[in-house]
Amino acid sequence: MNPDFIVCDEPTSALDASIQAQVLNTMNELQDEFGLTYLFISHDLSVIRYIADRVAVMYLGEIVELAEKEELFENPKHPYTDALLSAIPAPDPRATETRAPLEGDVPSPIDPPSGCRFRTRCPELIAPPEYDFSEAEWDAVRAFTRAVDRRAPAIDAAEADEERDAGTLRRELRMTYFEDVDVGGEAGEVVDEAIAAVVDGDPETADALLQEAFAERSICAREVPNYVLEPELGGSVHVADCHLHRGDAD
Ligand code: SF4
Repeated sequence: MNPDFIVCDEPTSALDASIQAQVLNTMNELQDEFGLTYLFISHDLSVIRYIADRVAVMYLGEIVELAEKEELFENPKHPYTDALLSAIPAPDPRATETRAPLEGDVPSPIDPPSGCRFRTRCPELIAPPEYDFSEAEWDAVRAFTRAVDRRAPAIDAAEADEERDAGTLRRELRMTYFEDVDVGGEAGEVVDEAIAAVVDGDPETADALLQEAFAERSICAREVPNYVLEPELGGSVHVADCHLHRGDAD
């Protein structure tokens, strides 16, 4: 058939390492001999790093980052790419770096989140401009919002506890999520209301309050990100769908 372009969908995923290497080497040889272009789909980043020239990272059915291979691996710009790269095991038994796995489930692609599709799991969700949060305050508010949304064990325990009084449970939740920060003003009132709703056995109301006051007001929820950036390595543009780079885009 003498094709110019071949789509390879996970061609090596079921193979052991030595067969995988043989197949990849054969593909490289065929590419040189016949001038082929491959669209290579894989979850294995070490295979991608070996075979690809340009890499597109997909999340929930859409490309969220696109760059030349070395640029993408050395200077990832999207938090999802960061998470994927940090999940690659280090082949060093002395390595002590711990990995933080992504939390939460992938949302339904039929009803994706507004704005950035990754926002419900993104560890770097941007603070809403209405509040003058310090970094530590926003970290705590974001962690609490996520915990209520996912019914973290501490939230479930506070909701189910019928032995201790409401004041003690509220103080405990505050200590768990806001030990080192004192979120005041309007944001503090929302947090207090949400904590009271959890302790009253109504985490749905707490979740709705927190989503409306914080998560939904972030630029990440209100605008779809798409930025074309100057690469640090290579010549092709670097595209990153993340508002963290809105100041760097052309
Ligand atoms: S736009 Fe916001 S939610 Fe999306 S990846 Fe960037 S920081 Fe995270």
